[in-house]
Amino acid sequence: MARSAKDRSERKTKPSVHGEAFEAHLQDLLGESSGALIAALGTVSPTSIRINPVKWVGPQASPIPWCATGRYLDQRPAFTFDPLLHAGAYYVQEASSMLVEQAVRAAGLQGRDVLALDLCAAPGGKTTHLCGLLGSGSLLVANEIDRKRRSVLQENLWKWGASNTVLGGSAPSDLKGLPSFFDLILVDAPCSGEGMFRKDPFAREQWSPALVEQCTLVQRDILQHAWNALRPGGHLIYSTCTWEEAENEEQLAALVDLGAVCVPVPVDPTWGMVRSTSPGINAVRSYPHLTRGEGFFIAVLRKPGEAAERLRSKHTEPQEHAQVLTWLGREEHWVLTERDGVLYATDAQWGPTLTTLTNALRILSPGVPVAERKGGEWRPHPALALSTALNKDAFQHIAVGRAGALDYLRGASLPAVEAKGTGLIMHDGCGLGWAQGAGSRWNNRWPTPWRIRAHQPSAPLVSWARSS
Ligand code: SAM
Repeated sequence: MARSAKDRSERKTKPSVHGEAFEAHLQDLLGESSGALIAALGTVSPTSIRINPVKWVGPQASPIPWCATGRYLDQRPAFTFDPLLHAGAYYVQEASSMLVEQAVRAAGLQGRDVLALDLCAAPGGKTTHLCGLLGSGSLLVANEIDRKRRSVLQENLWKWGASNTVLGGSAPSDLKGLPSFFDLILVDAPCSGEGMFRKDPFAREQWSPALVEQCTLVQRDILQHAWNALRPGGHLIYSTCTWEEAENEEQLAALVDLGAVCVPVPVDPTWGMVRSTSPGINAVRSYPHLTRGEGFFIAVLRKPGEAAERLRSKHTEPQEHAQVLTWLGREEHWVLTERDGVLYATDAQWGPTLTTLTNALRILSPGVPVAERKGGEWRPHPALALSTALNKDAFQHIAVGRAGALDYLRGASLPAVEAKGTGLIMHDGCGLGWAQGAGSRWNNRWPTPWRIRAHQPSAPLVSWARSS
């Protein structure tokens, strides 16, 4: 039986944050089934990936039922030593969090061209997922407040090759300048992290009732700003990896009081998810003893009303940088923005929207970085080699197998006979990075911070042939 509210509040005052205190707390939340959950928290987490279908077919076996591109793997391989990971052919992601796909479907936005914001985006699991779920004519703002986490987000976005994404570094309060603006906002909120206890021992150490309390305040603030920035008729997807009602249902109840309507997220009973039982809230919870994944909570809210059609730019002005434009597929489709010696490309129809965004938010990467200025000339930017916007035919290809790709990813130059100009390193059909011809070798242009530094794999190497 779940304990009373009085018991709960007494427990909240206890200072202990580990083991027993948390287990007793779970019993408060879940009653008898807490035993099975605690046992599951002591088991090994399943390993799963999400395929980037624009770049790779990937293994077909062991699908994750709620995500078309999700796959379970039999074991956790040494991902670092797989060049396809670096090429953005897949993303290593926990399975329950791929429920975002069902949330986007529930909102009726799969394949639709919309203006979307992922407000708490790093390290980019859900942003990269959204890129494939929304229409290719969408504009997605991937925002992260934390500078260090933002650089990981940027790396993941560039590797994924998303061409419809801009990177932001704003605080939620900056959204005040964009009332009723976005069609979709994803708030994957910072939370007390209970659902990640199996996967992440640090989350377990961090937990305390005070942390839960603190998270509820942050979440309330984020949601308030997100709700104001959502256009009438727009959708908010809210998710956390905690089971705390105060961080989940109670946060949403405040928006329901403002007129939000909960849109049910479709889940098949065989998946093992649990529907939230709070009045007025239709949300989905996952628990590791019932579902093959970690703990997760997700809900979709619709803002009442209807929005006027968004104005999009239909024509592009004649542009400079004709040569750079030939590096992109569909040259006429892009508008280029120069900033700090880098040229960024965005779908031209979003040009005016990008200006509005840039005036209100801290936009750090206004589109795909296409070219960087070097010695008075433009040369292709590392992100372009990985981008789905790249016109691969504009460059000579240097095809490498696994060993050559790993050398390249470690920063080595590659042997050549008569290397000239800029070459595109290709692995398994995916663009990886640039190399500069220097006669008997190709000089390496893989970004230094991304280099593989480990020498020996500490787990079995990936063998996709075996998994497919
Ligand atoms: N959506 C990410 C993904 O799927 O890879 C995970 C996001 S993580 C659960 C929550 C993020 O919120 C963290 O990156 C954290 O830096 C950010 N965050 C923390 N405090 C915040 C705040 N006050 N406002 C906005 N974001 C915040």
